[in-house]
Amino acid sequence: MILKIVQVGHPALRSGTTALSPAQVKSPEVKMIIEFMRATMYDAPGVGLAAPQVGISLALAVLEDRADVIATMDPEEAKARDRRPVPFTVIINPVLEVVGEGTSTFAEGCLSVSGFAARVARATKVRVHALDHKGEPQVIEAEGWHARILQHEIDHLNGGLYIDKMDTRTFLDSRANPGLLP
Ligand code: ZN
Repeated sequence: MILKIVQVGHPALRSGTTALSPAQVKSPEVKMIIEFMRATMYDAPGVGLAAPQVGISLALAVLEDRADVIATMDPEEAKARDRRPVPFTVIINPVLEVVGEGTSTFAEGCLSVSGFAARVARATKVRVHALDHKGEPQVIEAEGWHARILQHEIDHLNGGLYIDKMDTRTFLDSRANPGLLP
């Protein structure tokens, strides 16, 4: 089932989320939400989707950066952005830890701010502590684009959007600038 992705202005994007217990993660309802979110992310298509984006106020997000999508990018662009394949991942109740002081600034977009993009500075390296799709603790070490996706999705779970952190003068219509966003 493909879920409806809400757009900026919808209160679900700003209201924050509720943590899930390991027992809740194992429930058929949450398994179903994860499968629907996975299908919705593929359909969009996108590299990440947080539950508030489909109107669900749970601290849950999915992400995946596929090799076949990266292969369609200009290799120089992909390299500059440090974009490498990321397997399908579920993060639940994530806590973000920034590693080191490095930052990277690139244009990013959001399925809930459809048609636009802006440059956003993000930590280059992060460590995320979360539960996985089975309710087991996981630690994800990430850098480059993978780290950016994690920061973007975790912001969603805290009621944030990239427009809160963007360089406002770089906010633009991505349709008028094809090739800007992968
Ligand atoms: Zn987003």
